[in-house]
Amino acid sequence: MSASICVLGSSSRGNATAISFDDSGKFILVDAGLTPRGVRTALVAASATARFHTLRAIFLTHLDRDHWSPSWARQLQRAPVPVIVRRAHAELALASGVPAECLRPMDAAFALGKTADVRLVKVPHDEIGSTAFRFDSENAHIGHATDLGSVSDELLEAFADLDMLSIESNYDEEMQRNSPRPAFLKQRIMGGRGHLSNVQSVEAVRALTANGSVRHLVLLHLSQDCNCPTLVREFFHAQLPAIKASLTISRPYEPTPILCVRRSEPAIA
Ligand SMILES: [Zn+2]
Repeated sequence: MSASICVLGSSSRGNATAISFDDSGKFILVDAGLTPRGVRTALVAASATARFHTLRAIFLTHLDRDHWSPSWARQLQRAPVPVIVRRAHAELALASGVPAECLRPMDAAFALGKTADVRLVKVPHDEIGSTAFRFDSENAHIGHATDLGSVSDELLEAFADLDMLSIESNYDEEMQRNSPRPAFLKQRIMGGRGHLSNVQSVEAVRALTANGSVRHLVLLHLSQDCNCPTLVREFFHAQLPAIKASLTISRPYEPTPILCVRRSEPAIA
């Protein structure tokens, strides 16, 4: 039995990651910033065993439009699945069109049936923050963190001993500073409650991969204006030459390969 993740798309235009905890074809989404049709298309493009109708739950990091597409409201009325948010996001989730019968506001931790234990960690992002998720299943320990302006000790502690880590690497500082974006926007992004720069991301990854448990590292939410996949890959390789994890850089409109892990598998040497 194995667990797998596939980032279906990741950018300020839309984020969604499919996670399967076993080989049953059932999956969850972390974020639904792609439309239902976009998710369906991406699953087919990825040749995923998961099929759209085997979606079991949606976890929302926060309610920004690139993480929750209101087009899901109608889909969820037709085919309801639980939508999990941190309690502080519940009101906004309802106002953003998450059907009340689907909404499951949660606190720090809960069990997703017998499938996985879930831990929610508040991370700094704009006014009400974003949520990082840790999933512990029989087959894998998986962490997902995006839209965070800084990395807290709490997050580092919550993400200890992962098998798969997905974390954002949003912008290159120099490209951000030199961009034609207005000053207030640069301040919002770089001010500690926006997004992680490549430097911040590499430092977090350095800490989280030090013990060699992480087998797949996925970088999320690269800015299309202020970052570059080639630069990010070279930077991570230069900064973390000894890293044992395979590195995957998510793309805005295309799914990543399906990344699998088995609990008994040895780390990639
Ligand atoms: Zn975002």
